Amino acid sequence: MKDIVELNRKLKLQSPAEILAWAVGYFGARKIVLASSLGAEDQVLTDMLLKISRRPAIFTLDTGRLPEETHDCMKTTEQKYGFKFRVYHPDAAAVEKMVAEKGPDLFYESVENRKLCCHVRKVEPLKRALKGMKAWICGLRRAQSVTRADLGAIEWDEANGLYKINPLIHWTEKQVWDYVRAHQVPYNKLHDRGYPSIGCAPCTRAVKPGEGIRAGRWWWENPDKKECGLHFKDKKAARKGS
Ligand code: SF4
Repeated sequence: MKDIVELNRKLKLQSPAEILAWAVGYFGARKIVLASSLGAEDQVLTDMLLKISRRPAIFTLDTGRLPEETHDCMKTTEQKYGFKFRVYHPDAAAVEKMVAEKGPDLFYESVENRKLCCHVRKVEPLKRALKGMKAWICGLRRAQSVTRADLGAIEWDEANGLYKINPLIHWTEKQVWDYVRAHQVPYNKLHDRGYPSIGCAPCTRAVKPGEGIRAGRWWWENPDKKECGLHFKDKKAARKGS
């Protein structure tokens, strides 16, 4: 692997589809996986990746608390493109223990509880989804939040021990939606009801006019704490990798 700083400089001039094609070629189609939450960005990447790779690996985490609209979007996407998402569920025993000890809606009580729930329902299944992979592809954009402002198109993911590819890193929200419309990409209908960013049902609300696009996620917390552990950027890794 070349120096990440140099690669990011080179990839900065590439389109998202070119970055995806480079990543699939570099890491190999069997060693790279797209993580999809069925949000607009991930749907754009799904459309692009299916045009580049015949049988790409695309997974989603079914946390057990997803809104119905996300499941509807999953079905519509599978029907349109003729493929199946790899679906990972949380460990049933870990969910039972957490709910028995802290209740089903523990996340509203403290950041610690919210992180525990995200760990059980997202982080642990993610580790299983990434096992054996060399890189994962994500729909992160710099403009989404303060926690994503310094991301590069390629990063070393210290927590999971593989590379993370962010092809849409420099795209605006408008570019995402222009692509969705131009290519008739299926999307989560909650986007039409004021949800720019969609996660689990109890932790996502519509945003009000003038609010940031991630304001509806864990709205009761401080903006600089709002990551679920999937995209946590270790400061040491950040210094080393970008
Ligand atoms: S987003 Fe909410 S419900 Fe979903 S895993 Fe995190 S804390 Fe739990």
